[in-house]
Amino acid sequence: MRTRRSALTLIAGAASLALTLTACGQSSEGGSKESSGSAKGGTIGIAMPTKSSERWIADGKNVVKDLEAKGYKTKLVYGEDDPDQQVSQIENLITQGVKGLIVAAIDNKSLNNVLQQAADAKIPVIAYDRLILGTKNVDYYASFDNTKVGELQASYIVDKLGLKNGKGPFNIELFAGSNDDNNTKYFFNGAMSVLQPYIDSKKLVVKSGQTKLTQVTTLRWDGATAQKRMEDILTSTYSSAKVDAVLSPYDGISIGILAALKSDGYGSSSKPLPVITGQDAELASVKSIIAGEQTQTVYKDTRKLADVAANMVDDVLNGKKPETNDTKTYDNGTKVVPAYLLQPVSVDKTNYTKELVDTGYYTAAELK
Ligand code: BGC
Repeated sequence: MRTRRSALTLIAGAASLALTLTACGQSSEGGSKESSGSAKGGTIGIAMPTKSSERWIADGKNVVKDLEAKGYKTKLVYGEDDPDQQVSQIENLITQGVKGLIVAAIDNKSLNNVLQQAADAKIPVIAYDRLILGTKNVDYYASFDNTKVGELQASYIVDKLGLKNGKGPFNIELFAGSNDDNNTKYFFNGAMSVLQPYIDSKKLVVKSGQTKLTQVTTLRWDGATAQKRMEDILTSTYSSAKVDAVLSPYDGISIGILAALKSDGYGSSSKPLPVITGQDAELASVKSIIAGEQTQTVYKDTRKLADVAANMVDDVLNGKKPETNDTKTYDNGTKVVPAYLLQPVSVDKTNYTKELVDTGYYTAAELK
């Protein structure tokens, strides 16, 4: 089905290539507005969630670079964490005749109608990092092993506190990501699969009592929202006790949590900061790790993710079957979406040079 459609799309793409070859523009990522890249071949629409987090800016740039290298033009848009804006951006991309779509959803359930429009126009759709739910009109999924992300965060806490050596009990508080992001439950469940035995044996105590996913989510991954929740927990629960660890799913949330802790007097030798995890290896958080504040992050190489997504769309448009390595896990409620999952890496003070500098993700100067 898709192959036949793709062949047609390819022919259409080749025709429009002839028309557009002379009209190449410059590159591609651009404000919250759309912009076109130079290339032969059709245009690929890329819808990213927000510029408020560095990782998505890097993702956008990398996807554009990869697609341009393959001879496509690109239109990159950012929905600024507003699901309605993302829907209308994707509608615009469809109207403008994109040949393929790469979408990192803001709200995983808000895209069904617009993706039907994409399907009607025979536009293949790659879900980028975040699975889109409840629609058959998503062809492939490019992401990381999201369960593993949570396991890495939780295992780090377990190791750092010495729980395996029988130490404890320790107080821990739990934070999760946005409830409209499909990854949130994978991160949280992955983490809880490691933490729950220690909670059951009372070696870890969630003093706030907030242990259910519905109690600990952070809408749109917002750091200020997390800061407020941490402040409330410190006030209500920790007037005489100390928090020893905080499970944080994302660097921007960790920054909010750290702000709450610091204004409560944490960060001195008599009241040290707890172990605090994170995700994305964002610059500010890596610096915070080097400075001894945030403890850990999970590095996900967005360059590799961009490669996977660009290859997927290119393969589909060329009638080839993209490489996948997981055809079981990611059921979106309507179908199991074939996925390629990359491996996340736990990073702390001891290995950031090897993982982030030696790999060229950051220069040593950027981390100063
Ligand atoms: C991504 C994470 C990111 C979070 C917030 C998730 O969907 O997988 O890498 O930290 O969104 O942007």
